[in-house]
Amino acid sequence: MTLVTDRSCDGLDPQPQAMRFDVHPRSYQGNHYVYAVLSRRARGVSIGINLNPDKICNFRCIYCQVDRRSASGIRRVDDDRLLAELTDILHTAAHEPLGRLVALEGVPAAYQRLADVAFSGDGEPTSHPQWHTWVKRIGELIDRECPSLAMTLITNASLFHRPRVREGLDRLAARGGQVWAKLDAGSEEHYRQVAGSSIPFERILDNIQEEAFRRPLVIQSLFYRLGNEGPPRTEIDAWAQRLADIVAGGGSLSGVQVTTVARKPPRADVTAIPEDGLEEIAQAAREHLPGIPVETFPARPGLAEESKGGRASGAGVSGTAGD
Ligand code: SF4
Repeated sequence: MTLVTDRSCDGLDPQPQAMRFDVHPRSYQGNHYVYAVLSRRARGVSIGINLNPDKICNFRCIYCQVDRRSASGIRRVDDDRLLAELTDILHTAAHEPLGRLVALEGVPAAYQRLADVAFSGDGEPTSHPQWHTWVKRIGELIDRECPSLAMTLITNASLFHRPRVREGLDRLAARGGQVWAKLDAGSEEHYRQVAGSSIPFERILDNIQEEAFRRPLVIQSLFYRLGNEGPPRTEIDAWAQRLADIVAGGGSLSGVQVTTVARKPPRADVTAIPEDGLEEIAQAAREHLPGIPVETFPARPGLAEESKGGRASGAGVSGTAGD
């Protein structure tokens, strides 16, 4: 399979892309759909798959880093090109030192590893009509090029009820993949503020509950300050109670990631919650979820701290992928 991007003669950019926690470009060496980022949550280099190059999403998160002020020049996924891009990057990862793929200067030693392939990108990955078949195709490609590499879905959980998405979730689980499902609110009101979506909050909660009933899920929750205000304590308690309700309803959570704004959102009044505030939020979840690991991912943690593996409680979240 040949790659259709502009490269140096050996297939690699002469200057590999620098890796930073606070910059996650969706471009990589002229690719359209496959990129590489340094992920705090995956604890390493994550290969991202962008099935939404048109930048259309069924959420409009207040903190979303995708710049939708300009239209994308790429409207659809070219299957052959995506497969070629991924084949190329995985093949390189399997046969070359990681430093040939990405520049690792300043990257903590613990993060100098290929962590996973993650469905992420510029919209909700499962909204792609063929997402379920992409799970299979990409899984086969990983098996061929980098057999032990993890696969992750980073999702807003809005479409889990659709049969095709459920089929994809089954396939993902069958090959040991993880789902990181977004739950950023405890109340309908806060959900409306965060997600900016017409999808009812109940739909998200039901989808998460049902999927967590079928197999363990990781919950990813992002909190932010609007102006100078973080979320009120009542909202944090409501959110922690939602998590507890999932477990009480028979759902299984393998971990909770409490994050904040790490990269610049389009809105200037949306900013990161300081580290101690994030810890307080995580603590509320810990009190409701005994035995379930709850980790915080501050905006700009010290690299030495990061290299120790973050601040986990409980049994520790497994080191799979992320954005
Ligand atoms: S779901 Fe993800 S891509 Fe969609 S608006 Fe929210 S953060 Fe952005």
